[in-house]
This record gives sequence, structure tokens and C-alpha cells, in this order.
Amino acid sequence: FYSSEVRKVTIIPGDGIGPEISAAVQKIFAAAKVPIEWESVDVTPVRGPDGQFGIPQAAIDSVNKNKVGLKGPLMTPVGKGHRSLNLALRKELNLYANVRPCRSLEGYETLYENVDVVTIRENTEGEYSGIEHEIVDGVVQSIKLITEEASRRVAEFAFMYTKENGRHKVTAVHKANIMRMSDGLFLHCCREAAEKHPDVKFEEKYLDTVCLNMVQDPNQYDVLVMPNLYGDILSDMCAGLVGGLGLTPSGNIGLNGALFESVHGTAPDIAGQDKANPTALLLSGVMMLRHMNLNDYAERIQQACFDTIKEAKYRTGDLGGSAKCSEFTDEICRKVQGG
Ligand code: NAD
Repeated sequence: FYSSEVRKVTIIPGDGIGPEISAAVQKIFAAAKVPIEWESVDVTPVRGPDGQFGIPQAAIDSVNKNKVGLKGPLMTPVGKGHRSLNLALRKELNLYANVRPCRSLEGYETLYENVDVVTIRENTEGEYSGIEHEIVDGVVQSIKLITEEASRRVAEFAFMYTKENGRHKVTAVHKANIMRMSDGLFLHCCREAAEKHPDVKFEEKYLDTVCLNMVQDPNQYDVLVMPNLYGDILSDMCAGLVGGLGLTPSGNIGLNGALFESVHGTAPDIAGQDKANPTALLLSGVMMLRHMNLNDYAERIQQACFDTIKEAKYRTGDLGGSAKCSEFTDEICRKVQGG
């Protein structure tokens, strides 16, 4: 089923290699005739009425209106006084779940074979709630905040994601043996969600056990759901199993919208040289298409990307090849057009 309704999507090209890889994704989507219209927004901080630098309101309005966005890497501004874009968007769209699929690329060898795991990280609280204070000189406290509402929401999302993506098992990752109340509540919410979805297998594992097992045999895991900090660390570890951050996509799912982004940075060392690998952003775009129920387009583009990497004729430098970003992109375009 190829929908003919054209939907608007916000694109934030980003800094450094961002504009090059965003242009590559847009070219491939156009070649595949994906029925979306891009609305490109600039997020360079501007001085607001309060004298503070922040993201232009137009950018936030665009994401709010379209509800779906694709974002390239952004240079982290040095110095204070900037409202972080990630933070602003996370708040506006209520982005509560960070989803990172890590899958081995056929033909691109790493230490591990056939890795296919998805980490789902609670994105709004835990150790990242930013509640810290000094009690007396030399003694500080940092609060780990866990709520039933946020835990339930992400647990339920993990089970729904598992079903909708034809997967079979959810592993709740925790340390409830030590943090009995906070991780205990998170785990309790996962158990409740598991009861509501008896068709999905459910297991509970300690974070340390998962780390050990993951590097020994990642194939025993499928979908993993966990609190914020554990997810931050474990998702990068999983990316390492399949070839690094340059290849892994991500999605931030929210109550009011969703934002998809590559996990790597702006790669200033190769920016503007047509050397960047657009795979991570392209696969983030593929996740976005699945989120929008444009599955046929997603499948076709993903296959063309995987085939191009597998054939190894047009690999970019980071994958050991010598192709330019534009050559790699053009080959994927040829493939999605059936050439
Ligand atoms: P980086 O990811 O930009 O670069 C690390 C190395 O990986 C570099 O050698 C780079 O050339 C390479 N690399 C990264 N992406 C690549 C791609 N698509 N194709 C080929 N090679 C690629 O990390 P960094 O140098 O630590 O950070 C640079 C800037 O990016 C900083 O300002 C940082 O704050 C920012 N950053 C932004 C995000 C984001 O917006 N999501 C994430 C991480 C870093």
C-alpha cells in the first residue's frame, strides 16, 4: 500500500557534516518517491526578548505542528546562556522514550555476528532529572527520580514496540537488588505491562548481568527497556557491537510527536569534504517512515542501503572504502529506483 497523501516533516540539517548527510537522505527519499514534504528549519541560537540565546521559536513551532522530525548532529554550543535544543524539543514534544536499534550490517564484519537488539531508554527522569545540591561542604547529593507514570509509559511503549515490529521478548534491565525503591518501582511497572501483554515474552535481568552477557553473546537479547542512565550507557555499548555510532539510528518518541536523529556528532574533521557516511541519519529516516506507517518505503530504502554497504564498491572512508558521500548516495538512489 503506497499512500498518496503527502505529509510534512521537519528537517533540522544540523552543523558540520549535518547539511551533507541531510541532503543525501533527502535525495534518497526523493528517488524512492516517499510521499513527504520536508520543512527545513534553522536552529542556530538567536537572542530572545529576555536577552538569552535560544532556539528560534519558528523551529519549535515547525516540529510542534508537523509532529515528526529528522535531525542531523548539532554542535554543542560552548558557553552558558543557551537553551539546549535537545532539551527544548524534549520538553515540547514530551519525548519520553529513546529507541536505538542495533543490527549487524550484512557484509560489514565486526567482532559479533547477527546482532539484532533494540534498547529502549526512559528519557525524562532517573539520574538525569538534574536535582543536585550540596548538603555541607564536601558532601553533595544527586537525586534519582523515578515515577510510576514515566515508568509505566516507557514499559508499555516497549511492549507495543515489540509487537508492532514483529519482535518477541522484552528484557527489563535494573538494579532493584540495590535500589529497591526506585528501580523496584520501575521493575514493578514493567511487570504490570508484561501482564497486559502475555503474548510477549518477558524477563528481568540485572544491568551488570546484561553487560556481561551482551559482550559474550548478544543474540540472547531482543528488546531491552531500562531507566535513563542505564540506557545511556548500554545503548552505546550495543552500538559498539555492530560497528559504532556512525551506523546506528535513533528515535525519540513522545506524547506530542517524535524526533529521529543520528547518534554521532558533527564530525568537524571531515565536514564539507563529501566524505561523511549518511547511513546513521538515513536509517533514522527509515525508523521515521516506519513510525509514520510508510513501511514499504522504509523497507526499500533500508534494503538499498544494506545492499550498497554489502557490495562494498561504494563504501565511505569510515567503513574502509574510498567512496564519497555523494557516490554512496547515488548508488542507493539507483537501487531504490530499481536500477
Ligand atoms: P563525532 O561523532 O562528531 O566524531 C567522532 C569521529 O567519528 C570523527 O573522526 C568523525 O569524523 C567520525 N564520524 C562521525 N560521524 C561520522 C559519519 N557520519 N561518517 C563518517 N565519519 C563520522 O564526535 P566529536 O568529535 O566528539 O563531536 C563533534 C561535535 O559534535 C561536538 O560539538 C559535539 O558536541 C557534537 N555532538 C553532537 C551530537 C548530536 O547532536 N546528537 C552527538 C555527539 C556529538
